[in-house]
Amino acid sequence: MSELKLCQGPDCHTYHTQDRLKGIKGSKTYQTRRRSNFYYGNHNFCDQRCLYDWVNKYIELGLDHFGRTKEPKHLTEQNAWYKSYDWDSNYDNRTYVFRNGITKEQRPLTEAQFNDNNYTLNER
Ligand SMILES: [Zn+2]
Repeated sequence: MSELKLCQGPDCHTYHTQDRLKGIKGSKTYQTRRRSNFYYGNHNFCDQRCLYDWVNKYIELGLDHFGRTKEPKHLTEQNAWYKSYDWDSNYDNRTYVFRNGITKEQRPLTEAQFNDNNYTLNER
C-alpha cells in the first residue's frame, strides 16, 4: 500500500465528520484526514475549507516572504496575442486565428499551431 498523505489544513481535525472520527470506544478522536491523494491546493488539502483555512492563516506570511506586487504589471501589445477560433455558419469547421487583445489585429493560425502550447507570437 502506498504512503498516505495528511491533509495540510490546520483545522482539519476539528471538523466533526464520521470519517475523521477514529479509535476504539472510550478513546476516539477526530483526526486529520489521511488519503492516498487529495484534489485541492496542489494535492495537499482534503477539501476547499481546509485549503482556505491554510490560506487565511498563512497568506500574509507568504506574501511578505515571496514579495508583494507593489506596482501594476503591464501586458503590452507585443504580448497581447491569444489563440482563438471562429466556426463557419454550419458549425462544421473552425478557422483558427491569433488575435491581439490590444490592437485587435488578427493573423491566420493552423490547427497544429493552435494545439501547440509552445507556439506563440508573444515575446517571452
Ligand atoms: Zn482537511
